[in-house]
Amino acid sequence: MRYKFAGRDFVQVIQARFNALPTRSRVWRGRGADEKSLRCRAGCNARETLNHVSQSCFRTHRVRTARHDKILDFICERLDVVGVKYVREKPISFPGKKLIPDLI
Ligand SMILES: [Zn+2]
Repeated sequence: MRYKFAGRDFVQVIQARFNALPTRSRVWRGRGADEKSLRCRAGCNARETLNHVSQSCFRTHRVRTARHDKILDFICERLDVVGVKYVREKPISFPGKKLIPDLI
């Protein structure tokens, strides 16, 4: 599968791959910034790093979840094509918890 990116998108993909997106931690690196100026621009009281933005920031939660669901849809489609039976997102009771795996 080949992907075609516009020039700007390609640059952003390369920046993300090499941890070079202009987050506050990256931009202020070596400039003696205080903790307040390194805080996330979304206001979530965490240091704005690529890890925070791409893994835990509430501002990007919707797109992270959408990406996860899209990948899950793709896997389910492929399993249907090859005839594999599966159960999707069935809750499993566990002592003290309720687990919801993606696929079984
Ligand atoms: Zn944040």
